[in-house]
Order: sequence, then C-alpha cells, then structure tokens
Amino acid sequence: MKIAVIGTGYVGLVTGVALAEIGHTVTCIDVDPEKIAELNQGIPTIYEPGLGEMMLRNQKRRRLHFTDQHRVGLDGADVVYLAVGTPQLADGSANLRYIEQAALDVAEYAQESVIVVIKSTVPVGTNMRIKQLMLSHVRPGIAIRIASNPEFLREGSAIHDTFHGDRIIIGTEDHETADVLEEINAPFGIPVVRTDVSSSEMIKYASNAFLATKISFINEIANLCEKLGADVEEVAKGMGLDHRIGSAFLKAGIGYGGSCFPKDTNALVQLAGNHHHDFNLLKSVIEVNNHQQQLLIEKMLTRFGSLHGKKVAVLGLAFKPNTDDLRESPALVLIPKLAELGAEVVCYDPIAANQGSKWISAPAVYTKSVSKALNGADCAMIVTDWPDIKRMDPQTFVRLLHEPIVFDGRNCYTISAARKAGIEYYSIGRPDVI
Ligand code: NAD
Repeated sequence: MKIAVIGTGYVGLVTGVALAEIGHTVTCIDVDPEKIAELNQGIPTIYEPGLGEMMLRNQKRRRLHFTDQHRVGLDGADVVYLAVGTPQLADGSANLRYIEQAALDVAEYAQESVIVVIKSTVPVGTNMRIKQLMLSHVRPGIAIRIASNPEFLREGSAIHDTFHGDRIIIGTEDHETADVLEEINAPFGIPVVRTDVSSSEMIKYASNAFLATKISFINEIANLCEKLGADVEEVAKGMGLDHRIGSAFLKAGIGYGGSCFPKDTNALVQLAGNHHHDFNLLKSVIEVNNHQQQLLIEKMLTRFGSLHGKKVAVLGLAFKPNTDDLRESPALVLIPKLAELGAEVVCYDPIAANQGSKWISAPAVYTKSVSKALNGADCAMIVTDWPDIKRMDPQTFVRLLHEPIVFDGRNCYTISAARKAGIEYYSIGRPDVI
C-alpha cells in the first residue's frame, strides 16, 4: 500500500511516521519548503516525545519520505490522507480553505483512482463536499473514494496515543473503502468502529465538545468550592470513582487551550446555529472557559491591589505539558494582561521559551531556566503543569522569590506541601494557604 499524507503538522507528521512504523511506504507532503528541508535532514519540526527516533528509523528504512512537491508525493499513491489545518474563522466556523486546496492538489495530480482519507477535523458534510470538489476537477475516468478518519491524538503523547488509542473511527460510503482502511490500520491493534461519513465527522466534534464540557463543569464546581470552603481535588476524586463519570478530565484549573478544544467547540456552536439549533450548553462551556483564564489575575489583584512594578515569574507558556504548541494557550492571554497592568514578566518554559516573542508582542523575557525566572520575582504564576514544575520542591519558591507567593493555575502541589514549605499559595478550587 503506497500512502501519501498531505500536511506535516502535529497530526500529519505523527500519522505519516506511525504508518511507516507499521510497515507502509509513506510520502509526507507539505507546502512549507523549510519544514520539508528539516524533515529530510531527520530533524522533527515539532516537539513530541518519541517522534524523532521513530521518524529517523523509518527514513533509514526508506519507508518514509518528505517532499514539498505534490506531483512527486502523490505519484502512484493508493491512499491519500489529508491532515492540513482547519483553523477558526472570525465567526467561529472552521476555515476549510486548506482542506479544499489539498483536495484540489489531489485532483490535479491523481493518475489513478484513489481513496482520500480526511484526518483533519471538519464540520459534518465536509467530506462529501470535498469529494464533489475533487470529482469536478479530476481527469475523466478517475474514481475518488472518500473516508472520514478523525484523529484523537493528544499533543504531548501523540505517538503513544497513535499506538494505544481507544478506537479508530472509519466513516465511509461503502464497505470496500472501509475494508482498505481497516487493513491499513490493522497492525495498530486498536478497535475499529465503522460508520457513515456524517456520523464519523460528528463523533470528532461531539468527543471534543464533551471533554471541554467536563473541564468547564469541574471548573465551575471549583469556583463554587472556593466560595463554600470545599476542596475541588477531593470532590473530583470522589466523583471520578463513579465509573459512570470517570476521573479523566476532572482536573480543575485555568481552563483548556490548544489548537483543538477552543476552535472545535466554537465550530460546533456555529454549525448548530447554521441549522437553527441554539447549542446553549456548549456556549456556556466556552464562556466558563474564557472567564477561567482570568482567575489568576483576579486573585493577584485581590492580593496585591495593583500589579504595577511587580515582577511576575510566569511558569509555562505551552497550552499543556510536553508540547511546544502555543496555540490558544492561556499564556497568550495572561502575559499581555500582566504587562498591561504594569507588571514585569519573566516567563519560563523548558521547550517553548524561544517561541514566546514570536507569539506575544507584549514586553516579557523568556527563559529555559526556572531559577532565572523565579530569582527575585515578587510572585510566581503557574500556567502549565510541566513535570519539572510539579516535581519541584515548593521550598524553591521560598529560596528564590522575593516573597514566596504562588498563584497556581494547575494545582501542582498539595495544600499540605504548600503549608509545609511555608509559601503563600493560591490555587484553583481549594482553600488559600496564607
Ligand atoms: P498544523 O497547523 O500543525 O499543520 C498543518 C500543516 O498542513 C502545515 O504544516 C501546513 O504547512 C500544511 N499544509 C496546509 N495546506 C497544505 C497543502 N495544500 N498541501 C500540503 N501541506 C499543506 O495542524 P495540526 O495541528 O496537525 O491539525 C491538522 C488537523 O487535525 C486540524 O483539522 C486539527 O483540528 C486536527 N486535529 C489536530 C490535533 C492536534 O492535537 N493538533 C488533534 C486531533 C485533530
């Protein structure tokens, strides 16, 4: 089976590498020649644990190739995966420009009949529209079969998730196409769910919307816990033991970010609206999340009165640990807000530090050294629960900060550890330690 993957971002690159690892011959195509040049030198263009070694291994086996020429990459491909971005437009809907262009690229260079697999997250109905678009542009006699195969990997554990996913969703118009997709994926040994194309597209949006709902729900409980003197960590533990609820995604904090939940929840609200359905529940989930990001600033203002001239050590830039992805990270909201309030910001991130100034125009210093960020600062604000921050002895704050005051947006330390270390500690949904 000769496979082409269009788009070598977080999803496309991981998909291409994983398909090569299980034995397929894969060519990954991207419009960005710099990315392709790096990949061809064996340098992964994203930070993802385990990706680099697997990529290099399959390049050496000559099962994995990279090109910026669609004509070359699509030549002889039996199956083409589309894994380009579907970012958010100003009205919240998904921008389908890239997926349409990728489809036109396939139509232009397809020499023989081909199966086109859409991995990108696209609104219900898009797969069939893309099929029609391709059919109206391919040479006569070339058949296009379409498959919706949404991606569920999590950045930061993408390789692990690809090999140990809970399910593979395959939405097709016919059994033959589903058979081919199931055969391609068989070596992963992951349960396959076959369905129709529209349901497959909806499974992806519904899954992300549900997970976002769980996060906003526990965050609202956390906000109530703060008012009532309860501890949200205890509450989440007690709730999560009920197997109907489950403990995953019951971690209170300053809200979700990243390239998926914010845009996919907005796109689903927009899609519902287009069909005269007011998705009130999801609108509230989004509103709760937007407010949640402001909580630490509110807590700081309550504590200090004014942040003018305060030196704040921001710990974490990435939207979650183990990724270099800053898309929709709470840090993108918090750092400019701190600067606007007159604070001096020094931001630590072990992987994404050098991307800070590319994403944030407000004045701030970025460092890969946690002690440099903390040294002499008036307080610390934890934005990302990087493992090294979670593992750090809270005594470090006493040693390095001007005053040991910590605002923790990810509940990294237990209340007893904070007390024992003698820090002033404000977290989410738990009693303050003063
Ligand atoms: P990304 O922005 O990291 O990568 C997209 C890549 O596609 C870029 O490298 C871009 O240069 C390339 N590209 C755009 N148009 C092209 C074309 N015509 N030909 C070749 N290359 C082209 O995007 P991503 O994060 O990998 O997301 C891709 C899709 O997968 C989105 O729909 C997203 O919602 C979905 N998804 C993402 C994740 C995630 O964690 N990132 C998880 C599940 C699903």
